[in-house]
Amino acid sequence: MGQLDVLVIGAGPGGYVCAIRAAQLGLSTACVDRWLDEDGVPAPGGTCLNAGCIPSKALLDSSHRFADLANRLPEHGIRISGARVDLAAMQSRKSEVVATLRTGVRGLLRKNAVEYICGEARLTGSGTVEIKSPDGKARTVEAAHIVIATGSRPVAIDAAPLDGDLVVDSSGALAFTKVPKRLGIIGAGVIGLELGSVWSRLGAEVTILEALDEFLPPVERQIADRALTVLREQGLDIRLGSTVRSTRTGKTSVRVIYSDREEAHRLSVDRLVVAVGRRPELDALGLEAAGIALDAAGRIETSSQGRTNVPNIFAIGDCTGGPMLAHKASEEGLVAAEVIAGHWGAIDHRCVPSVVYTDPEIAWVGKTPEELDREGVPYHSRRFPFQALGRARAAGDSEGLVKILAHRDNDELLGVHVLGAAASELVAEAVLAMEFRASAEDLARTIHAHPTLSEALHEAALASAGRAIHV
Ligand code: FAD
Ligand code: AMP
Repeated sequence: MGQLDVLVIGAGPGGYVCAIRAAQLGLSTACVDRWLDEDGVPAPGGTCLNAGCIPSKALLDSSHRFADLANRLPEHGIRISGARVDLAAMQSRKSEVVATLRTGVRGLLRKNAVEYICGEARLTGSGTVEIKSPDGKARTVEAAHIVIATGSRPVAIDAAPLDGDLVVDSSGALAFTKVPKRLGIIGAGVIGLELGSVWSRLGAEVTILEALDEFLPPVERQIADRALTVLREQGLDIRLGSTVRSTRTGKTSVRVIYSDREEAHRLSVDRLVVAVGRRPELDALGLEAAGIALDAAGRIETSSQGRTNVPNIFAIGDCTGGPMLAHKASEEGLVAAEVIAGHWGAIDHRCVPSVVYTDPEIAWVGKTPEELDREGVPYHSRRFPFQALGRARAAGDSEGLVKILAHRDNDELLGVHVLGAAASELVAEAVLAMEFRASAEDLARTIHAHPTLSEALHEAALASAGRAIHV
């Protein structure tokens, strides 16, 4: 292989998207990743496809259907008895979904003439990378541009060392072969709540220990408080202000010692999941050989074009600053490819949507009232409850609300927060509106189909303009 135009390190949603775009723009491109599936076959797709977004959503969707049988269908006049979970079948469906999508990614790389290399990459200079293949053989690849897209891995804490059996990280919790009777989760972040929801719906008694007193800090308070109440009603025992201090692993159970403001407590569980956040995956990369600078949080420092401090090296996705989300990684991948090809491109984190795939879902884009207060931006805030929505009532999905924050003077949308069914889809309209710097009035004057859940956004915008109809 002669010198490549672009070598992308990491084939997650940041890396493989970047590689495809670079190749589409006429650059000779290779993408290297070390991930192997359970059979030792190279597995592109990164954390998102192999151990994150997709497998978690497969289990969330399956467990949601099961929970609906008991919790939702009776109100529709449908009674089913004797339903039971076949966890082996549910898990193999999940694996098939992942395998099919992996085949798709491989096909896309091939179709776009991206060379896929399986192996671990290490920078040996600003234009050279040593790649060690799974059989231990090493070779050096030269590239005019390098894109680092190595993602992130779970944070480990001394208080709860993993043993891969009773104490596991999110990957372990996606692969349980038995529903644990008592499941403990450390961390009530997005991942802890999603995994807690899956196993609780399938029958586990789930306790989530969260060090912070506040539930979901990035979410608007009224929505976060309502979500906490609903999730607790569903049976998730979420204990805020509870910091895990130590764990003792026995033969079949784990004893967790945690403390709240008053005292120390003990909790015995059959399985424990550590979900206390993720950190950039940079250890094997040899960043010092290329002289790449990190920020205070240990992520690669990048410009709005994805450039590091070394001119021909770019970095994207979870290993850089900003939210650790797949769509953010992909967008940065597109920008990096276009900038390398000599086009214009810039990354803007103003309109990155976030979603927690609980039931109801929680989704938001833009600022919270607390952020606006801190920044001294004047705003008004209006809400609309799903209860007042015909379609939500018809579907039996009347839990939730939409909250719109708009600038007090020019009415520009500054933040939209949704708790409710399909919030992950509803937020897309808000993202588009904010991307176009629309006002609440613009949204209020947009015709929404009736009866749909999207009318919740419309009504909140009408309320924002002082013209609410249905509340
Ligand atoms: P990654 O997807 O982590 O990919 C990095 C790749 O680099 C990996 O394949 C790794 O093998 C490879 N690599 C690392 N170092 C090297 C090296 N030295 N040599 C070769 N290869 C290397 N985000 C969402 O937006 N929506 C969700 O619903 C969602 N759900 C999630 C659920 C869970 C359980 C988890 C854990 C995460 C979830 N995320 C979700 C986060 C999402 O997975 C990440 O934000 C996303 O994968 C980041 O993409 P990336 O391309 O930066 O890195
Ligand atoms: P996130 O970073 O969104 O994935 O969330 C991880 C959560 O884990 C954060 O809200 C942390 O406050 C929480 N956390 C971190 N360490 C501990 C600990 N020792 N005990 C309980 N919660 C923790």
